[in-house]
Amino acid sequence: MTKRQHLEAINTPVFSTISEAAKELSLDSYVIGGFVRDYLLQRGTPKDIDIVAIGSGIELAKLVAKKLPGSSEVSIFKNFGTAMIKFQDIEIEFVGARKESYHRESRKPVVENGSLQDDQKRRDFTINALAISLNSKDFGQLLDPFDGIGDLKRQLIRTPLDPSITYSDDPLRMMRAIRFATQLNFIIHPESLQAIADNKVRIKIISNERIVDELHKILASPKPSIGFSLLHSTGLLPFILPELVGLEGIEEIEGQRHKDNFWHTLEVVDNIAEHTDNVWLRWAALLHDIGKAPTKKFDKKIGWTFHGHEFVGSKMIYKLFKRLRLPLNEKMKYVQKMVLMSSRPIVLSEDFVTDSAVRRLIFEAGEHVEDLMTLCEADITTKNPKKQKRYRNNFKIVRQKIEEVEERDHIRNFQPPISGEEIMKTFNLRPSKEIGMIKEAIKEAILEGEIPNEYNAAYSLMLQKGKEMGLHLN
Ligand code: ATP
Ligand code: MG
Repeated sequence: MTKRQHLEAINTPVFSTISEAAKELSLDSYVIGGFVRDYLLQRGTPKDIDIVAIGSGIELAKLVAKKLPGSSEVSIFKNFGTAMIKFQDIEIEFVGARKESYHRESRKPVVENGSLQDDQKRRDFTINALAISLNSKDFGQLLDPFDGIGDLKRQLIRTPLDPSITYSDDPLRMMRAIRFATQLNFIIHPESLQAIADNKVRIKIISNERIVDELHKILASPKPSIGFSLLHSTGLLPFILPELVGLEGIEEIEGQRHKDNFWHTLEVVDNIAEHTDNVWLRWAALLHDIGKAPTKKFDKKIGWTFHGHEFVGSKMIYKLFKRLRLPLNEKMKYVQKMVLMSSRPIVLSEDFVTDSAVRRLIFEAGEHVEDLMTLCEADITTKNPKKQKRYRNNFKIVRQKIEEVEERDHIRNFQPPISGEEIMKTFNLRPSKEIGMIKEAIKEAILEGEIPNEYNAAYSLMLQKGKEMGLHLN
């Protein structure tokens, strides 16, 4: 064990209070796991702190809550033998040191009290097993039984014990290994990687909620493709996102090839990660081409086609979200819309960019029109510099046009300039299909540029349409 002191890491009232409380209870305590790892990697302010007590974590939490001004009440999770308090937006988790043994059918271990060493052994990775002592006799000493420090330096994800047993015991760790490799840009130790591949089927016992938590974290990383290509190479991907697996491969008929849409997708996700932190837009990038597998066809004259893949892809989203327990709310609708519209700016930019086409684009994308442009720009993965330049330039023109048109016509948050009620009053109508028809005619005229998006012009058009339909004024 290293004898290095890490006083700086624990030089805050939180840790001195925990230390004091533990002393009063005559038990030893340590800060362990993510907090220590992220401190050593200088990864910024922690969101959570994990404390191990050699004894009752719950009792320690109770006393700390009493002593620490401004801390929340203690939440106790009796079944897990853990307790949590919140302090300045940080969750502090307390657990008694434990020894774990597993049964094959579940990721719930049999738990006994144990020593710090026992507790470090049950941790998933060497870099997550690092602990710093909060005891007065050696306050600040780093306890690193598995050379986690060395692995931090080598940028290596490695399990403290036999990787095959570690992953089989709790298959969520396979997702965590890949997630940490992605977040930290670390390598997974070859034996670990092999063990993940060997145990991939075990992922089936993990709930989709837990899997999606990790997927979110992978997607939120600076270079999400690291994670997805690991999910692919270990064989986990088919259990999680089979829709993406279907995109892999290049087919050739009569000398014509299409691009590999799986690797293309990963490039798109990395591109978009450079321009947005919106994880739902990143989801849209990940899923934007899933309709290409079911729509792929070869035509002797025009070669490979994926007609309607945006529509088919957007229709696949609901089932995918439901299966993965992703939210079936406006977030899903947003992803569906992005996928459905993912080719629109491209089609538009290939032609002369008319005002009415831009108005329609803004109308349909609404407040998400910028996100849609960001997606389309990320979709440019051609390695041909000439094409690359042309596409970028086309999108620049579309963006400028969007700004121009929006400033003039205010389509983004389109509200019909004439309400249904006003139409009803004007022609003395009860709710009826005529009202919808007049509203639609006004909207169409605005989008086509036949009338400006203004009340007076819309009012005149309403009167004209009413007359044509044989309606009488009130
Ligand atoms: P982050 O908070 O950034 O997700 P973390 O390492 O703190 O990373 P937590 O889920 O907060 O992850 O878990 C805290 C600690 O608990 C980990 O550092 C690790 O030591 C241990 N741990 C968490 N999940 C597992 C697991 N499935 N198997 C073994 N140990 C685990
Ligand atoms: Mg944590």
